[in-house]
Amino acid sequence: MTANVLFAGRADSWPTYEPLLTAEFDRLGVRADVRDDFAPEKVDYIVYAPSGPVSDFTPFTRLKAVLSMWAGVEKIVPVVPAAVPLTRMVDSGLEQGMTEWVVGHTLRYHLGMDMHIRGLNGRWHRHIPPLAKDRHVTVLGLGALGTASAKALAALGFDVSGWSRTQKEIEGITCHAGQDGLKTALERAEIVILLLPDTPATENTLNSETLALLPKGAKIINPGRGPLIDDAALLAALDSGQVGHATLDVFRIEPLPPEHPYWAHPNVTVTPHIASETRESTAAEVIAENIRRAEAGEPLLHLVDRSLGY
Ligand code: NDP
Repeated sequence: MTANVLFAGRADSWPTYEPLLTAEFDRLGVRADVRDDFAPEKVDYIVYAPSGPVSDFTPFTRLKAVLSMWAGVEKIVPVVPAAVPLTRMVDSGLEQGMTEWVVGHTLRYHLGMDMHIRGLNGRWHRHIPPLAKDRHVTVLGLGALGTASAKALAALGFDVSGWSRTQKEIEGITCHAGQDGLKTALERAEIVILLLPDTPATENTLNSETLALLPKGAKIINPGRGPLIDDAALLAALDSGQVGHATLDVFRIEPLPPEHPYWAHPNVTVTPHIASETRESTAAEVIAENIRRAEAGEPLLHLVDRSLGY
């Protein structure tokens, strides 16, 4: 039997994905017909992004699985029928991109680069940053992206803690879990990186209480999702100096409205949701492998747990 695979990602990415997916199905020996247009009742698998053409799944009556092209699935979980298995994107290219973005922004804070980029105005002021081993960094979320970023920071010598829902053991990282674990993970955190999913349980993980646990002047880096932070609490913490600076890539409303106080705040860097992208060639491998598994009756990789929302 040939599996009918509907590509329902962004239209402009179809010319890139078509040859990559076709080559991967051939390589894996999967009989699949992959197109960007199919009669819905004939579709077995949907390769899906919310920015693509499908919003109503009801006409797809014989779906075997939906494969998200995005790692964050908070907009996808509510629309995909509960009976249909849903996988999320875990892609080595996405991990590498996120790691580079996180390491770059962490080093900016660690080395105090802004001081020299702004310039010292003729003042020979020598500020020597500590070595990485004396800088405590906490990564909230130890999944695919959090673990890759935490390991890269630890490899540079940073003193890294991490926090997740379930207890982890990762070499070189001090791992914490649960509400008490969050307190411990934040108390020493000079730089906090958020790589949690957006779920009801993670909303406002950083709020006025948890921000107050940080050492004064701590830096925040959020490439996770906007709702992880209580914006009013962060702005108050920035104004009081409790938080020294924040680099924010994701927001409750995107694009971030021009009048939002983050744009003008002197201690906020806004980046427009560019921390990392799904990379076509490695993503095509993951998608094709999952369809091979489904056709062979093997367990799917990276299944979303609907009850947890990620
Ligand atoms: P994963 O699902 O692999 O990891 C999520 C991590 O968060 C896990 O360690 C999980 O714990 C932890 N977690 C979930 N809920 C809680 C909770 N209530 N309390 C404590 N920890 C919790 O996701 P990824 O690493 O692949 O991606 C993380 C997020 O990054 C995505 O959801 C997305 O929002 C964002 N992202 C942003 C991009 C950008 O360009 N800005 C690009 C791609 C992703 P446990 O391990 O115990 O399950």
